[in-house]
Amino acid sequence: MHELAVTESILNIAVKHAQQANASRVSEVYLVIGRLASIVDDSVQFYWEMMSEGTLCAGSKLHFQRVPAQLVCLNCGNDYMLDGELEPCPACGSAKVKVTSGDQFYLDSIEIEK
Ligand SMILES: [Zn+2]
Repeated sequence: MHELAVTESILNIAVKHAQQANASRVSEVYLVIGRLASIVDDSVQFYWEMMSEGTLCAGSKLHFQRVPAQLVCLNCGNDYMLDGELEPCPACGSAKVKVTSGDQFYLDSIEIEK
C-alpha cells in the first residue's frame, strides 16, 4: 500500500506543474526509482491510472528509470555502485555496508500539451 501514497504525491506535483505551465494535459511522466526502493512499477501504474482520472494527468504515460544504488563499506571505506540485489563489499567481503543512496523515488520531469 506504500505505492498508493507515493503515487498520490507524485500526481499532485505533476498536476501542480502542469497548471503552472497552463497545460491542457500531461502526456508523459518520467519517474526515477532507486534500485533498492521497494516500489513495484505495476502498482504505481495501477494507482496512477485510477487516481489521474479527471485530472490533467489522465491518459498520461509513465516512464520508469531505475538508477543504481550507492553503498559504502563500513569496514574498509570502499564506495561502490549496486545494480542488483544487495551484496557484500566487493573489496573486502564485509557485509557491514551502508546504503548512501538508492531508495529514492521521485518525479524527474513531465511533458505537457498546451
Ligand atoms: Zn569493504
